[in-house]
Formats: sequence, structure tokens, C-alpha cells
Amino acid sequence: MTETADVIVVGAGVQGASLAFHLARRGLRVLVLERGTVASGATGRSSGFVRMHYDLEAESRLAWASFPYFRDWAERVGAGDCGFVQTGFIELVPATLVDNLRANVAIHQRIGIPTSVIGPDEVARLLPGIVTDDVVAAAWEPESGYADPAGTAAGFLAAARARGARLVQGCRVESVVVEGERVVGVATERGPFAAPVVVDVAGAWAAELARTVGLDVPVQAWRHDTAYFGLPVGRSADFPIVIDNIDEVYFRPEGRELMLVGLETNNEIGGSPDRPLTSLHQGAVEEMVGRICARVPWMSGGTLRTAHGGQDGITPDQRAILDQAGPDGFYLACGFSGTGFKTAPAVGACLAELILDGRATTVDISGFTLRRFAEGRRLVGEHPYDLLWR
Ligand SMILES: Cc1cc2nc3c(=O)[nH]c(=O)nc-3n(C[C@H](O)[C@H](O)[C@H](O)COP(=O)(O)OP(=O)(O)OC[C@H]3O[C@@H](n4cnc5c(N)ncnc54)[C@H](O)[C@@H]3O)c2cc1C
Repeated sequence: MTETADVIVVGAGVQGASLAFHLARRGLRVLVLERGTVASGATGRSSGFVRMHYDLEAESRLAWASFPYFRDWAERVGAGDCGFVQTGFIELVPATLVDNLRANVAIHQRIGIPTSVIGPDEVARLLPGIVTDDVVAAAWEPESGYADPAGTAAGFLAAARARGARLVQGCRVESVVVEGERVVGVATERGPFAAPVVVDVAGAWAAELARTVGLDVPVQAWRHDTAYFGLPVGRSADFPIVIDNIDEVYFRPEGRELMLVGLETNNEIGGSPDRPLTSLHQGAVEEMVGRICARVPWMSGGTLRTAHGGQDGITPDQRAILDQAGPDGFYLACGFSGTGFKTAPAVGACLAELILDGRATTVDISGFTLRRFAEGRRLVGEHPYDLLWR
């Protein structure tokens, strides 16, 4: 007999897991279908930054509404552990974008986010030894930090399963099945499953799945290089996360003796999400070392530990698609564009509201439509960092 559910969630990354948790909490029978294993997509490779600084207010609101989950995981979710570590967060921008940074911080303060604009002396106090010759001003978020993305996904799923959700791993959804104008379920390599609602949370594979209901969803595979370096002997991991938009690199502590580094200049867009993930682009480690040692010269005593690439789905304006589209009962939560870990708790809450109540109330997500692309509208920040990766 065909297994039935109220909602089928396709993809067990952090977004699918959060959605499953929020739907199950509201009493729905949820079935999560995952082609690989939990967190085997972007989530398992994510750098795990939890910060609120964006140039688009709606994204800052999503990050801020998500923050209490990371900080108070046990009370909010009650299963597993998201592994949140509060480090503080510094955003550096080139001198030409300092006015925009100031304006964005003012928006964030209005939302209620603890943040301020600081000068180079304060940056140097927060991270002793950092080079600040080219820093005019920076944004500082004392409460931000990083968390464990795979642990977050596993925790959400454990909490969802405790409320009756079912997870099937090793089960690729081949197509969404539609009768008349309505979704009725999915066809998978393990046979059919029935549900009146199907949510495409398939990361870099989201467009492939959406095509099975005739939808053209502009999500491409986006590949991004990261690596772990050992800290120099005697150097403590007690330093804040830094996104350095001047040198297009970011870094944060990992545990007690590592630094995680991400490089933004080699990001690759397009190609099949199924092609193997190479360990790193040629020359990437040398570029990371050059940029990190220029910004934090004491890292010249560091050592390369491991390097790996990851992939996410990216849209043309680098903002997510959170929408109902195509046949009745089909929803999209995809295109997180390299920045959808920290927002997953609130996005899951919003999607559950959209599905059950017809409108999200946790945060207004009405701008994240699919049709904006067909209408030639892009989501652009109020004070954009256009020239920057995010
Ligand atoms: C290297 C890297 C660093 C990042 N750093 C950060 C960061 O610091 N902070 C931040 O906020 N964000 C970061 N991101 C982005 C963030 O990790 C992603 O946006 C987020 O994990 C997306 O979650 P997801 O659940 O949508 O996708 P995924 O984790 O990719 O999950 C999608 C799942 O769907 C499954 N799937 C696909 N097709 C099918 C199908 N047909 N049937 C069944 N299952 C299917 C896949 O196997 C996969 O497990 C980073 C991303 C990368 C790659």
C-alpha cells in the first residue's frame, strides 16, 4: 500500500529538517525523503556562520528570528545539539562601502540586533595582531558565532521524528506526481509516496525536481572552497569570526586549535550538481594562505589540515526562493545561495505558516517569490554591497 503523509519534504539538509520540525510541531504527518543521507548536501559542508549582517533587511530579519534557536537550542528544539559557539562577528568592507555599512547597521539596530560600527582600533582590540591599515570602519555583532550545521539538521529531525515525522534516506525523488491541477505525491526509486503537499528543499538539485512539474526555477549549482588550518603553537582559538570583504576571504575559529578559512574568488556557478566535488580549485590553498597571512600575520605559523569544497543552489540575485508555485500543493524553499544555514530555523517556521495559514507571520517573506525573476525584478539590498559576494 502506498505510504501517505500530509506533507512530503524533499531533502534532508538543514532547511528540510527545520521545515519538518515546524510542520510536525503543528501536528502534521511529515515524510522527509532524502536521496543520500542527512546533511549530505550543502549543509554538511557549510561553514556554519551565525550572524545577522546582510544588506537586505528581510534576510537580517530571518537571521535574527533564527538566532534564539541557536542560542537556546535545548528549550526551543529539545533534541540533539546545534553546537553554537558565541565568538562575536566582524564585517570588514572596502572604504567605498563604509557609508552603506553604516546605513545597514542602523537598519539592524532598528530591528533589535545587537550591533555597532567600530573603528580600526576596536577591530585590533578584538583580534590582536590583525592588520587594519585599510580598515576605515567595521560592523561588530558581539552575540554572533558559529554552529554545527550537520548537528543542527540532525537535531531538528530528531525533534520532528519525536512528533511523528518519518525520514527515509537513500530515496531519490524522481518526479512530483500531479493529477489535474494538484500535487498528489511523488515517484521515487523506492516507489510512490502520496501527499497533497510536496516541498522542494533539494538544494543544488532543486531546479531538476521543479522541472518535473513544468516549472523553470533559476537555481544553479554554486561551488565554494574552504579549508581548515591548524593554529600556530600556543595561539588560542579565542578570536571572533571575520568576513573580510576587502580581501574576499573569511575565517573563524573551529574548536580549540583550528581556523576555518573560506575563499570567495574561485566560486564556480553552473554545471551538473551530480559531478564529483573536487577537493579544491587549483591554487586555492595558496590564495587562502596569502590573504589570511596578509590580514592576520601570526597565521604564517599555521599548518594546512584539510581542504574541501561544497555546493549549494544559487539564484541570479543570490537570494532564496520561498514560495508556492506551479500546481496546487507544490512549494519551493531553495536557492539559498551560500547563506542558508543561519536562516534555516526561521525559514522553516515561515514555510510552515505559508503552507498551513497561507501567509508567513514570523517574518515577511513575500519578497522571495519565484515570479520576481520572470518579471525582471531582483531582490536588492537597501544599501547594497553590489560588488561583494555575500
Ligand atoms: C562551503 C559552504 C559554506 C557555507 N557557509 C555558510 C555559512 O557560514 N553560513 C550560512 O548561513 N550558510 C552557509 N552556507 C550555505 C548553507 O550551508 C546552505 O544554504 C544550506 O545548508 C542549504 O540547506 P538546504 O537544506 O537547502 O540544502 P542541502 O543541505 O544541500 O540539502 C538538500 C538535500 O536534498 C537532497 N536531494 C536533492 N535532490 C533530491 C531528490 N530528488 N530526492 C531526494 N533528496 C534530494 C540532497 O541530497 C541534500 O541532502 C555554506 C554553503 C557551502 C557549500
